[in-house]
Amino acid sequence: MKDPIRRELERKWRRESQQRRMQNPEYRERYKEYQKIGKNKNKVVILDRDGTIVEDTGYVHKVEDFKLLPNVIEGLRKLRKFMIFIVTNQSGIGRRVYKLEDFKKFNDRMIDELGKHKIKIERIYYCPHVPEENCGCRKPKLKFLKEAEKQYGIDLKKSYVIGDKKADVELGRNAKCKSILVLTGDGNKTKKEVEPDFVAKDLLEAAEWIIEDDKK
Ligand SMILES: [Mg+2]
Ligand SMILES: [Zn+2]
Repeated sequence: MKDPIRRELERKWRRESQQRRMQNPEYRERYKEYQKIGKNKNKVVILDRDGTIVEDTGYVHKVEDFKLLPNVIEGLRKLRKFMIFIVTNQSGIGRRVYKLEDFKKFNDRMIDELGKHKIKIERIYYCPHVPEENCGCRKPKLKFLKEAEKQYGIDLKKSYVIGDKKADVELGRNAKCKSILVLTGDGNKTKKEVEPDFVAKDLLEAAEWIIEDDKK
């Protein structure tokens, strides 16, 4: 048991240093944001990778082919009060078009680039199987989201799924998240096949919709 005088002193120091920090406008802004994160930490954004964040040239895996889609940085910056997850089907691994290593190198390149803009991806879940394997992790199946729900305490009903394919919109529906179709990647083709909660031109428009929806 700590002695009460010391405890009182420590409390005072903490209070004072917090007051000092709050005089810094930059800190004050971050602090407000963090408080918001505290409130929202169970509400997350789940993103597809290819055709949603990066240009999809078909089984994209070469670092040289890495290219962010337009407005991705701006969109993800807007979403920085949410935890961001990626869930991606990578049957190219199962089909031996590329190796798991290539996939990871490509992700590292992407994480580096996003990191330069202070964007953090909490976790990347990937399914390496081909559809014929009938695994439980290939979108629109829920294995990864169920895992994340448990591990991160996510409230899926309050969360968002963004992607360019039918499997993404269906993943959102299966998980009872709100689903957003982006018209990048395969989005224009997909549009005729699905009924998402919102159709966005790109990730920035999707992020703007989420920010508005979050205020409700
Ligand atoms: Mg995609
Ligand atoms: Zn799988």
